[in-house]
Amino acid sequence: FFARPWVFIRGVPSMKFLPPEGPPEVAFAGRSNVGKSSLINGIVSQKGLARTSNTPGRTQELNYFVPDGFTGEGDDLPPIALVDMPGYGYAKAPKEQVDAWTKLVFDYLRGRATLKRVFVLIDARHGIKSNDQDVMALLDKAAVSYQIVLTKADKISALALPKLEAATRELIRKRPAAFPEIIATSSEKGEGLDRVQAVIADFARE
Ligand code: GDP
Repeated sequence: FFARPWVFIRGVPSMKFLPPEGPPEVAFAGRSNVGKSSLINGIVSQKGLARTSNTPGRTQELNYFVPDGFTGEGDDLPPIALVDMPGYGYAKAPKEQVDAWTKLVFDYLRGRATLKRVFVLIDARHGIKSNDQDVMALLDKAAVSYQIVLTKADKISALALPKLEAATRELIRKRPAAFPEIIATSSEKGEGLDRVQAVIADFARE
């Protein structure tokens, strides 16, 4: 299904707009500008898929993407849905916006039985920041499995990458819901995307 065209099905500003639970879901979280859109587009080999729904007015929505060609009716469910969570960590975000983000995301994390994993994207140049830690604490509290994906790995040296991976591993070691395997990616070079795809494929319906 990665070879199929993918489509944006809906933006969810609050829980009542969530689609009914159906296919397994895998979500993507990260600070704004971490490379989330690029990663999603790389995974589905479709430039502009995530971008089109990420226009500024819609940043506070969960954006749903599915492979095209499924009606969603009855048994004709897509094998998987990808959920692009709104970016966080804007320096200038007003408190109400941060609170709204936290409410939407926490309600979703806590209430979504079909959510299989959240990829927490971390810019390889910056490593884990305090707001990433806040998000991981939220994920731990909601008991949702999450996995670190390092982005923009092409921006750091081949020597720095294993050091960053080791430091990151140490930071998540005691976090209860963190999956231990870290995936380093470069959407620019297409590296590591296959590993993210493999995780997603494992969660997809037969
Ligand atoms: P988002 O805000 O998290 O959706 O981030 P975007 O996907 O829009 O990417 C933010 C910026 O980082 C853009 O200028 C991208 O071109 C750049 N970028 C994203 N992924 C990579 C990558 O793997 N390597 C490099 N060098 N730049 C990247």
